[in-house]
Amino acid sequence: MATSVKPTILILGAGYGGMVTASKIAKQFGSNDANVTLISKHNYHYQTTWLHEPAAGTMDPDRTRMPISSVINTNKIKFVQDEVNEIKKEENKVVLKESGEMEYDYLVTALGAVPETFGVGGVFEHAFSKWTVNGVREIKEHIEYLFAKYNNEPEPRDDYLTFVVAGAGFTGMEFIGELSKRIPELCQSYDVPKSKVKMYVIEAAPTALPGFDPELVEYAMNLLEHRGVEFKINQPISEVNAEGVVLKDGEEIKSQTVVWATGVRGHPVIEQAGFENMRGRVKVERDLRAPGEDNIFIIGDCSLIINEETERPYPPTAQIAMQQAETVADNLLALLKGSELKEFKPDIKGTVASLGGKEAIGVVGNKKLYGTSANFMKKMIDNRYLWILGGAGLMLKRGKSPL
Ligand code: FAD
Ligand code: NAD
Repeated sequence: MATSVKPTILILGAGYGGMVTASKIAKQFGSNDANVTLISKHNYHYQTTWLHEPAAGTMDPDRTRMPISSVINTNKIKFVQDEVNEIKKEENKVVLKESGEMEYDYLVTALGAVPETFGVGGVFEHAFSKWTVNGVREIKEHIEYLFAKYNNEPEPRDDYLTFVVAGAGFTGMEFIGELSKRIPELCQSYDVPKSKVKMYVIEAAPTALPGFDPELVEYAMNLLEHRGVEFKINQPISEVNAEGVVLKDGEEIKSQTVVWATGVRGHPVIEQAGFENMRGRVKVERDLRAPGEDNIFIIGDCSLIINEETERPYPPTAQIAMQQAETVADNLLALLKGSELKEFKPDIKGTVASLGGKEAIGVVGNKKLYGTSANFMKKMIDNRYLWILGGAGLMLKRGKSPL
């Protein structure tokens, strides 16, 4: 245990899980309850759920991020900017890249996810797979560079203007929604005929958005096809290389821009630390602690919880990460006070995905939403998060106009 008189709580990662945990602790804990430190790679928090927009260039990347000190009370929560390299759970320590070891009495691990490749070769060398602020800046700059390059060479190549999205999950669909909406503007700015642009979404499963409402999937596909997107469904990508992608049936698509969105796995620190895991995700106990660990909570994309109705894991979402964070803050206080810990029960309010411009699809409760009403709901969800994190002030300052 750490030697300080007050117990030491470390929160790893300042994403949805880490920020909501820190914010709730700052509000609920008394100043003598614990020393609490939030550790994250950057001195800013970013909203991953907005990143498909700056990736396609329909939003300034800076709109997705905010200084951590502008939303977390740093008098109550100490912030350390550093990278977590290791968790030594037997020693109650974490190892940071710059600052070395830090001891804890209680640990909250909320380090998020990394791309899943399912063993497909060439992804990290040749595709864009980082859903981070700088990762999406690269995608946007690269697309614009290729548009400029297309008209700058004596023999322009088709693969400059061929865009491949790997995976028709929510990330892939939201990104192509934004990109397909922006293409006409790019064509005009760079004097490129729209007929030269090719957009592919390639999906391994027998449908886009597997498991989602089929009527809404059809709506989304029709809309995107109308904007020029070609779907290749039931056709897994088996390789990414410098020329483009190779599909399982041998077809090759030449492209200089492959955007990878085939799902996620938990942060590699989880596997390194020796937690039992499934693709980097720990099946946590009902109180959100790691099995066999009295003082380690794991939340967000690093955690795995089972939907008792379907007996399948819940997909990792910001919605769940935030709800888990609320429970973890309560459970930390319960541990400090010696009272009973709460069981986490997800309250899934629905799923809404944007499709670019004023288009979106979603299910909220048991109601299906299309078009502008779904788009309105999506903006409300984005704004609600800001409200939870920083109240009305943050929402009014940084929120999206619902219109
Ligand atoms: P994150 O929010 O990813 O936060 C992890 C934090 O840890 C980050 O701040 C990161 O910088 C930090 N970190 C990482 N590694 C280290 C390290 N080694 N050391 C220190 N710090 C580190 N979910 C929804 O519910 N609704 C949506 O509409 C939605 N849209 C999405 C759109 C896109 C484009 C993407 C990619 C995802 C979307 N998701 C959505 C999923 C959602 O973003 C994740 O489930 C959510 O971010 C998980 O929260 P988290 O706290 O576990 O991790
Ligand atoms: P995902 O797992 O939801 O979708 C990935 C898709 O890629 C799947 O349909 C899968 O069949 C496909 N795929 C896998 N391997 C492939 C291959 N080799 N070739 C072609 N296709 C392949 O992952 P995601 O879209 O990255 O989303 C990650 C998480 O974030 C999910 O839990 C998702 O629900 C969540 N998310 C939610 C929203 C929203 O609610 N609006 C938006 C984005 C992401």
